[in-house]
Amino acid sequence: MPLEKYKQKRNFQKTPEPAGSPDAVRKSAAKASDRFFCVQKHLASHLHYDFRLEHNGVLLSWAVPKGPSLDPGTKRLAMHVEDHPIEYGEFEGVIPEGYGAGIVMLWDRGTWTPEVDIDAALKKGDLKFTLNGYKLKGSWALIRTKGPSYGEGRSWLLIKHRDDWSGAVDIAEFAPLSVKSGGDFEDILAEDTPAIWKSDRPAKGGATGKMFEEIIQKAAAKKAGAASSKSHSDKRKAKNEKSTGAKAKDRTKHTKRR
Ligand code: MN
Repeated sequence: MPLEKYKQKRNFQKTPEPAGSPDAVRKSAAKASDRFFCVQKHLASHLHYDFRLEHNGVLLSWAVPKGPSLDPGTKRLAMHVEDHPIEYGEFEGVIPEGYGAGIVMLWDRGTWTPEVDIDAALKKGDLKFTLNGYKLKGSWALIRTKGPSYGEGRSWLLIKHRDDWSGAVDIAEFAPLSVKSGGDFEDILAEDTPAIWKSDRPAKGGATGKMFEEIIQKAAAKKAGAASSKSHSDKRKAKNEKSTGAKAKDRTKHTKRR
């Protein structure tokens, strides 16, 4: 059964992640031949980047702890994980508890083109492809590492090929924000419930615990700031409407256009 592992790991009463419907149709690609790809930056027990390629109605998925590198000399470990539903490709938000609890940011998305036969390449453990995203472009490879000792064959390397889109820039640092909302982790959390992990954080202590601590504080401040500036502007608006009631209609029009 497709997506069996994905479903086993999650309680859809408790997570906002998509359950995956069997007849979900992807709408994002312009042409039927365009295959979707995305990278989700996921702050959970550890920060990592989930690299996903659409194939046969699901998203093949690899967890890349350090994220993709544009430097052909820097091979990045990519752990092959369970297939995800197509709808997952647009997901960004907060997973309050359970598997993957934390914050998911849609870090890059676009289309991908295989340079070889996909199924044969997956079997062989050598997939070459081209990406056309906002941040990641050009030719890449996913190569399964040899040796049964580590990760039971789930261990791959994500490698950039040398081309116009390779280089020394640290893309994770240079372009850290969401391609969906434009926000950072704290903005995504501020849109949700900054106080959600008061007692039970996805990571405590260490670098990740510290990241969570800072993000939770920033998110709470943003939410409080947004709430107070909203109430100020509501008050101001109410006052203006009293004094210049005649122009209220024009103002409504203006607000709508914005
Ligand atoms: Mn993940």
